[in-house]
Amino acid sequence: MTLTGRSIIGSQLAEPCGKAFHAVNPATGQSLEPAYYSASDSDVNQAAAAAARAFEVYSRATGKAKAAFLRKIAEKIEGLGDDLVNRAVAETALPPARIKTEIGRTCFQLRIFAQLVEEGSWVSARIDRPDPHRTPIPKPDMRSLERPLGPVAVFCASNFPLAYSVAGGDTASALAAGNPVVVKGHNAHPGTAEMVGQAVRDAVRDCGLPEGVFSLVFDSGIEVGVALVNHPEIKAVGFTGSRQGGRALMNAAALRPVPIPVYAEMSSVNPFFILPGAMKERGAEIAKGLHASVTVGAGQFCTKPGVIIPAADVENSAPVREFVSSFGELMKAPADFTLLTERIHSAYFDGVRARGAKQGISSVAQNLPEQNAAGFRVGTSLFETEASSFLGDATLQDEIFGPSTLLVRHSSREQLFEIARNLEGHLTATIHGTEEDLREYADLVALLESKVGRLIFNGYPTGLEVGHATVHGGPYPATSDGRTTSVGTQAIHRFARLVCYQNFPDAALPGELQNDNPLGIWRLIDGQMTRDAVSSVPKVQAKST
Ligand code: NAP
Repeated sequence: MTLTGRSIIGSQLAEPCGKAFHAVNPATGQSLEPAYYSASDSDVNQAAAAAARAFEVYSRATGKAKAAFLRKIAEKIEGLGDDLVNRAVAETALPPARIKTEIGRTCFQLRIFAQLVEEGSWVSARIDRPDPHRTPIPKPDMRSLERPLGPVAVFCASNFPLAYSVAGGDTASALAAGNPVVVKGHNAHPGTAEMVGQAVRDAVRDCGLPEGVFSLVFDSGIEVGVALVNHPEIKAVGFTGSRQGGRALMNAAALRPVPIPVYAEMSSVNPFFILPGAMKERGAEIAKGLHASVTVGAGQFCTKPGVIIPAADVENSAPVREFVSSFGELMKAPADFTLLTERIHSAYFDGVRARGAKQGISSVAQNLPEQNAAGFRVGTSLFETEASSFLGDATLQDEIFGPSTLLVRHSSREQLFEIARNLEGHLTATIHGTEEDLREYADLVALLESKVGRLIFNGYPTGLEVGHATVHGGPYPATSDGRTTSVGTQAIHRFARLVCYQNFPDAALPGELQNDNPLGIWRLIDGQMTRDAVSSVPKVQAKST
């Protein structure tokens, strides 16, 4: 495929008139051709206006039609073959195997959303039958379901060039719900974005959908993203990136004359607890698993364990000492990682330097890349601190994006609970324990439930499974809205809203709410979950107490 360096506005390519930038190969620091051009104000207006026009048609597309479209996108992406793998490797320095896995995950996500909308019950249809004889006021016929919001702006993630970029989870969930999407590409991988963007545009054409269902805009800075979030035709935003970036977009969206929701997945340090029984039984094995989890993908995962709380160090306990020593040895071993962008690279060095200079922090391992190493190279780093220092400094919960982590030592059960109580919102928390540990620390599980979106037992937080039950969310500042998930099929509900039809004639209702249930979906009729037609559901009188 020939790369053009131009934004895709519906079926058209934008004129190459804005500021130009190039992708950079993180392994070498060399720029990659072609030049990419920032979208102009007029490009953003055209993309948003086309999306608004397309919404009138696409929001009414059947589940079958949307499913065919999502499957067509997956097929087109797979059709890009090695060209896509090679370009993504050049732009990210991620190994080909990782890129191939990510292509697989991207297509799987598209297909699982296709299955969801084809089946159709995701709309949460509810029907409360009328009672014209109720006194003193007759009861009306009330029927509700979830409907799409309108055009969605999606910001690509630097660290997932495919699975959380142009046709990634945010786009798939927004399209599945019935919303057109305008994607803002990430400067780290514009060529990958353009290839996938062309695949989505071709899928729109092949499926006979209005061209405004999809656009992709590039930008050398932040202006285009800000313009999108402020555009009156944009009705919601999906974002994965830094806390500063997410927060700036949340603020901008809240200040609009008509505020809109921003679903931002920002930063998390994923606290990792090792309880005494597990520490005694398999401390060395946990050290190995943890090292792999901290360093996989060069530590550039939002699920990386960035704060480790080993069991209480009661009287210099031998199992804790041995765990700390073996984990320290693994983190000290020579290692050389390449980060995704110059900005992430310099943020890593700044973060590690600042943490190392803090009172009460000691550096256990500090691997530096060879001097003059080409590209955005870093080594691992491991810090250690005491509970009192951790509790006194909120910045120790800040994410250092890259292969770095922090051990928090403590000397009592009470201190462990104090640490847990002081955690801010994170995406995950992990507990390693035995059955006896779990019984003894049941309150810890209850406490962590209010802090994170996913609790992991005897496992590692990296390597998230995508499915119907997946939750990848958590209270602020992990995300902008802790009630939702950005991964898995429940992400669709972020881009839909409830609408209620009162006393409508059957023929004028959406198929999902019609008496005969022509789509065969699960519905809640007078409080009973069923796939039956309205007339077949027996009326149950609510009991009065
Ligand atoms: P980022 O700086 O937040 O950028 C993400 C996207 O948002 C980029 O397209 C960026 O545009 C745009 N953006 C950022 N600030 C904006 C603003 N104020 N207004 C409008 N658009 C804005 O994230 P990043 O480039 O991916 O990486 C930087 C840092 O983010 C990392 O060091 C890491 O700490 C964090 N990060 C976290 C996760 C996670 O999953 N937790 C994932 C990725 C990154 P430009 O590129 O043009 O600035």
